Amino acid sequence: MVGYELPFRDELGFCNVLMSALGGDGANMAAKLLFKVGCEELGLDGGYDAKYGSEKKGTPTDVSVRFCEPGTLVRQVGPTTRPHILVVSHADLIRPLELNRGLRAGATCIVNTVKAPGAIRDELCLHSGKIVCVDATRIAFETKSRLNMPLLGVLAHELRFPDEAMRARIARQWPRVAEANLAACSGALTSMTAMEFGEDSYPFLPPLVTRGPIGWRNMLNGGTIDALTHTTAGRDNRLAGRGKVPEFHPESCTSCGICLTVCSDPGGLLWREGRMVGIDDRFCKGCMRCVEVCPETKKGKALTWVGVEVES
Ligand code: SF4
Ligand code: SF4
Repeated sequence: MVGYELPFRDELGFCNVLMSALGGDGANMAAKLLFKVGCEELGLDGGYDAKYGSEKKGTPTDVSVRFCEPGTLVRQVGPTTRPHILVVSHADLIRPLELNRGLRAGATCIVNTVKAPGAIRDELCLHSGKIVCVDATRIAFETKSRLNMPLLGVLAHELRFPDEAMRARIARQWPRVAEANLAACSGALTSMTAMEFGEDSYPFLPPLVTRGPIGWRNMLNGGTIDALTHTTAGRDNRLAGRGKVPEFHPESCTSCGICLTVCSDPGGLLWREGRMVGIDDRFCKGCMRCVEVCPETKKGKALTWVGVEVES
């Protein structure tokens, strides 16, 4: 598209975006839509890498999107370790997942939070750049959309993607929920707070050194994978039980079971002898889908959203 310019570019010509979320948050769907708009409508080129996570267990996932000008050699694959733009779906995972590692100087961090950019800067120990805070959970809940939509709206805005192109693609992609999704994007743009920070407080944090990919260099004879080096046993992928769960009011519950039909991990809903008795915060990942569908009775809703952010 004539006139569009990427806001960032690394030494290979890429603008690198990293979206961090939990399985079931819809980060992958949102990133795919963003990638389509970038490549099909703005004429950009790039690369895409998604790490999927179990929706049931609320496993951490991340999606890396690279954009570049057409004609740039696209020879970089896999996840981004040096993002220009970081999108954080769960602020309380910044520290456990060390999401601040590898952020480039001057990076933009979009964070789902009720906190102010200054407080998030301290959590991220951001060397320099811009922090955009948006209460995406509340916006998604109020507009009956999903968490990924307000964050996608802000991300597209920070990438300076034309608003009309994004809105048209969102409406086309999910026509039945277009109104809710567009309302979520607009709500995010009108309520976000942003602040820029200079190189005045925190040192640059290099990327995390991981064990790297499994390939011919580190395979044993016969193509066997070295289980001692690459084992995942003992890795705790369960970050679901984080305390952000719906409030249950037993006096209003009719045990209709509608909540069970939408729960991404039915273990989160505690049932005894055919009656709903509460929420199990070891399994509930706080998606609030059950709150949305729980019917309003004369005594009110049995499941309500507290809207409180857990302290990390
Ligand atoms: S949807 Fe609400 S009323 Fe129905 S069983 Fe679940 S908590 Fe109870
Ligand atoms: S209990 Fe409700 S908030 Fe928890 S995972 Fe199930 S649907 Fe989501």
